[in-house]
Amino acid sequence: MGGEAPFPSGDLMRGKRGMIMGVANKNSIAWHIAQQLHAQGAELAFTYANEALERRVRPLAESLESKLIVECDVLSDGSMDAAFSVIDNAWGDLDFLVHSIAFTDKEALEGSFVENTTRKNFKDTMDVSAYSFVDAANRASKLMKPGGSMITLTYLGSERVIPNYNVMGVAKAALEASMRYIARDLGPRGIRVNAISAGPIKTLAAAGISSGRHMFSFNRAASPLRDDTEPKGVAGAALYLLSDLGASCTGETHHVDAGFHIVGMPDEAALKE
Ligand code: NAD
Repeated sequence: MGGEAPFPSGDLMRGKRGMIMGVANKNSIAWHIAQQLHAQGAELAFTYANEALERRVRPLAESLESKLIVECDVLSDGSMDAAFSVIDNAWGDLDFLVHSIAFTDKEALEGSFVENTTRKNFKDTMDVSAYSFVDAANRASKLMKPGGSMITLTYLGSERVIPNYNVMGVAKAALEASMRYIARDLGPRGIRVNAISAGPIKTLAAAGISSGRHMFSFNRAASPLRDDTEPKGVAGAALYLLSDLGASCTGETHHVDAGFHIVGMPDEAALKE
């Protein structure tokens, strides 16, 4: 739980309050980020998607002394209204937002993109995985002063074709473009908006992608660091972007993927993976 991993401690986030959207369990990227922010003094509010997840999220959040733990289904305006009003009533303002949410049907994460993408699932995937950041950013920005900061989580499948990532890659492209437009809109108010493009990490969401095992081994073999993406590296990047260390950085998609994104042609050994 909270104290398991030695996240670097300090005061970089002392006095800052933020909302963490997207913890499902202790493997969630948002949970790693939350632990790092807490170790640097942040006060955190957590949202969970539905009642079933509350049982997992509440003990995790409480282990980081969180008092605000609220249900929030990003597909429901009423649920978003309710969650943001809890934050508004309790804190009145917000320093940062972590958006770490995505969903698509499992059947869409395999085989042919052109054949397996239905109109309904295309829309639903966009709604949960891209529009929810636009909506959350808009609501959060109303509670933010200059110095506020937001991040979302994306993946290389937005820029390049990754087998089986399919419609989620299209949603991530929309998410990254949305991030840049939001950065443009909120920049004049001193609010920074960025994305972290993480390499493959073993989570519930990643388990849905068919050929996941190949994805991990190929990434390890082909990346300059010859290693998996460490959740701690993602949490460290989040700390940089959400704290004052990240001043002047906005509209950026920052890759934390053992360098995989720079590779044009992998070494021969990687092709055997
Ligand atoms: P995860 O399954 O732990 O997190 C996904 C979260 O999305 C869950 O908490 C889930 O409850 C939430 N969610 C789904 N539908 C929702 C809804 N309607 N309302 C509210 N919340 C909803 O998996 P994760 O890997 O930590 O994913 C977090 C983010 O990181 C996602 O955007 C994912 O695409 C991105 N990402 C993951 C990887 C990876 O390899 N795991 C790599 C790059 C980017």
